[in-house]
Amino acid sequence: MRHRIAVVGGGPAGLTFARVLHRHDHRVTVLERDPAPDARPPGGTLDLREKLGQLALGKAGLLAEFQALSRPEGQAMRILDTDGTVLRDWQPRPDDRANPEIDRGQLRDLLLGPLDVQWGRGVTEVVPGTRDGVLVRFADGRQETFDLVVGADGAWSRVRPAISSATPHYTGVTLVETSLDDVDTRHPDLARLIGDGSMAVYGVNRALVAQRNSGGHVKVYAQFRAPLDWHTNLDRHIDLADVEAVRSSLLALFDGWAAPVLDLLRHGAAFVHRPLYVLPVSHTWAHVPGVTLLGDAAHLMPPLGAGANLAMLEGAELAESVAAVPGPGDLDEAVRAFEEQMWVRAGRWAKITTAGLERLVSPYPAEALALFDEVQPS
Ligand SMILES: Cc1cc2nc3c(=O)[nH]c(=O)nc-3n(C[C@H](O)[C@H](O)[C@H](O)COP(=O)(O)OP(=O)(O)OC[C@H]3O[C@@H](n4cnc5c(N)ncnc54)[C@H](O)[C@@H]3O)c2cc1C
Repeated sequence: MRHRIAVVGGGPAGLTFARVLHRHDHRVTVLERDPAPDARPPGGTLDLREKLGQLALGKAGLLAEFQALSRPEGQAMRILDTDGTVLRDWQPRPDDRANPEIDRGQLRDLLLGPLDVQWGRGVTEVVPGTRDGVLVRFADGRQETFDLVVGADGAWSRVRPAISSATPHYTGVTLVETSLDDVDTRHPDLARLIGDGSMAVYGVNRALVAQRNSGGHVKVYAQFRAPLDWHTNLDRHIDLADVEAVRSSLLALFDGWAAPVLDLLRHGAAFVHRPLYVLPVSHTWAHVPGVTLLGDAAHLMPPLGAGANLAMLEGAELAESVAAVPGPGDLDEAVRAFEEQMWVRAGRWAKITTAGLERLVSPYPAEALALFDEVQPS
């Protein structure tokens, strides 16, 4: 007997889950709120680790395609002092495939492949334990029931309240994201400064990070410790939709930093405000039959290169567990066992990334450098 399985969310977690189930010839309904794959910009580049995201792609049968698309040279990492002095410059070895980069849009399209996603199906609520299974309510007023509902709907999950009362809290660090296009032809000096991968500058309680994506596109993240209402407190009111107002407030915040570094902000096209939220470290819940969570919905953590990787591996592992279920009565036991395995690994990464954020955006910029010296291969 085949189970009625739905996954809410078509991000890295949900699509990997669906793709691995598809590989095992299992049907799964993918419910995504966005009206179309390109309804909003897909976001920046992701580095996929050999033992996490790449392992998941292997389980989906997509590793060779990933290797053809990804950018091993994107593993390059350069750290500058605020005066522009190069402090570190790590270049990957030619055969290094440990953490190659891939654009999020490329990864999404790779995972989508033959999947039949139901676009424009925002879920508002999930109610476990009804007579016909787990009830899913949609924003358009419709409802459907399933045997298993997997919440892969990110930080502000609408599935999570069915099994946990946890909600994300602000870390005290905000990112403001901007981007540059055609950097090699329009800003060759900046292109050289950034190199093939990432470039970062760490100051007191603030940092600027630039990451090369494919096609000469660069994402820049201004990061700083500030109250959530930094743009409206202290008698100021910065309209976050006003590009020039945000630009000048950031230039003031990073005042005194080397001119080429500030050019990243001067040439940025638009600014996206991203206060960093997290779920409590080691978030777990009392198991609820028929509902579970994956990825950011389960363990939102600081963006230090683990979230998408974990999300994908969890998606792949849950799919394999579900595909291996021998009979109808065994589905729930498989999900319960998966959750316990997920909690241990995610808890470990939540501790690492939480401690990492404390050191990267801290009163002591030398801490950021020390962190990189600990994790970068020499
Ligand atoms: C600036 C930045 C850089 C990062 N860099 C990295 C990196 O290099 N490596 C890494 O591993 N991680 C990185 N991360 C973290 C990574 O982006 C997330 O951990 C990852 O996207 C989580 O995947 P997910 O599928 O769980 O959730 P999401 O990617 O958030 O996907 C959730 C999906 O669910 C959909 N959805 C939401 N609500 C509903 C609803 N009610 N109904 C239906 N659909 C819904 C959304 O539209 C979305 O498609 C970074 C994060 C940030 C902010």
